[in-house]
Amino acid sequence: MNLRLADSVPTAGGAVFLQTKSGLPYVVDSFCLSRVLQYGWHPRKSRFGTYLYRKKRIAGKTKYIAMHRWLIHAKPGLEVHHRNGNTLDNRLQNLELLTPEFHASLHRNRRK
Ligand SMILES: [Zn+2]
Repeated sequence: MNLRLADSVPTAGGAVFLQTKSGLPYVVDSFCLSRVLQYGWHPRKSRFGTYLYRKKRIAGKTKYIAMHRWLIHAKPGLEVHHRNGNTLDNRLQNLELLTPEFHASLHRNRRK
């Protein structure tokens, strides 16, 4: 399964360039801006890149919500690919929902 949800989402109104408190630049669609600005976003590094997270208290535990997964409503079990390789470009047209298997094959083919 390869859901190309992002293909069907137009970027009406264009992109907005923002910064985290630590000065890290990131990009979202302008129509997502009000949702994004409701929360404080913090970068966390992984071996795949740097992603933005917010904290959420659920049943007394702190959970970390990833912006790119949240914006595209990614269900557990599906992964989100950043098409242009920039993990801080969270415009919907740059995000793609993939199965873990297909996602892994994509990066195997791209990386030497
Ligand atoms: Zn990817």
